Amino acid sequence: MNKKFLKEVKKAKKDDIIIWNEATGELIRGQPNSRKINEAVIRLFYFIYDMKNRKFRKLKWDNLFDYIHKKCNLREVKGKLTWTCYGDLKFVKEFCNEYNLPFEKIKKRLNAAGGYCDCEVLLNSMAEIDKNEYIL
Ligand SMILES: [Zn+2]
Repeated sequence: MNKKFLKEVKKAKKDDIIIWNEATGELIRGQPNSRKINEAVIRLFYFIYDMKNRKFRKLKWDNLFDYIHKKCNLREVKGKLTWTCYGDLKFVKEFCNEYNLPFEKIKKRLNAAGGYCDCEVLLNSMAEIDKNEYIL
């Protein structure tokens, strides 16, 4: 069980509702019919709706690596190698938003393979994850 989730369970007052979307990482606790909870329910509803209705794209890790590769844009400037990386998974997040993929889940997998920022995904994760494997 998720530690953050258990923490919320312990903090929960009588009647509190806890909404946990494992795929997006969203975890909300509040009273029934509170604005916070109602909004979280709507987001959850749309998430499920999107999952059911999106065209099921059989995306492979190769598609993600290719996207990151283009965004990082490894290039030579005045004889020196350089690339674009913001020190986080900005481009991975972009990819996930574009294809409606669960960022938190993908981030975990990339982290486990040594990818904590976009360029590390290319340097480390790419070597560990089979590019022909489906992302989901
Ligand atoms: Zn980097």
